Amino acid sequence: MSTTPRIGVLALQGDVREHEAALTASGAVALRVRSVEDLDQVDALVVPGGESTTMSNLALRWGLMDPLRARVASGMPVYGSCAGMIMLADRIEGGRPDQETIGGLDVTVRRNAFGRQVDSFETNLHMTAATFGDRPFHAVFIRAPWVEQVGDAVTVLGTVTEHGVPGRIVAVQQGHLLATSFHPELTGDLRVHEYFVEMVREQA
Ligand code: GLN
Repeated sequence: MSTTPRIGVLALQGDVREHEAALTASGAVALRVRSVEDLDQVDALVVPGGESTTMSNLALRWGLMDPLRARVASGMPVYGSCAGMIMLADRIEGGRPDQETIGGLDVTVRRNAFGRQVDSFETNLHMTAATFGDRPFHAVFIRAPWVEQVGDAVTVLGTVTEHGVPGRIVAVQQGHLLATSFHPELTGDLRVHEYFVEMVREQA
């Protein structure tokens, strides 16, 4: 790979444009992935926020689900935000019965975990300082999932307090897979995308 990684954004549905902008600003070349041919062109992939049930349907209908699973199994770095986190999870709670995921991330994710009354909210959260520095993230959550359970190989990178309960997991990494419940692509804070681009460079 050249020093400029080619990172795809899965462009079936969701906030594709915002991730493209954040990736470009973080030093990557961003490409839209809608087909197996597109997927073959990229070193890594971002699965955006949106609606995971729709994304799952479209990935199955367009013949992308198995190729995506194969690339994940072969070690392609993937970053999923919000619906993208759900798409990477091995197990989901509150999913639709026919909802499939790409999987690979050994976590159980609860869809719409923060409750129906609170569709969206913003909060400052601290991510693992060694990785992201001391400055808090201004994090935007939109009908967001949280991570209910993590396997041994998963590192928790960030948590929030919800209704007085601390430690709700909202950012995780397992080797080449990175996921956040929130949307750093919406706030102009590039640290998560820069971290992902660095993961892709290191993988090369
Ligand atoms: N609730 C959505 C889902 O289940 C995710 C919301 C989002 O990506 N902002 O797919």
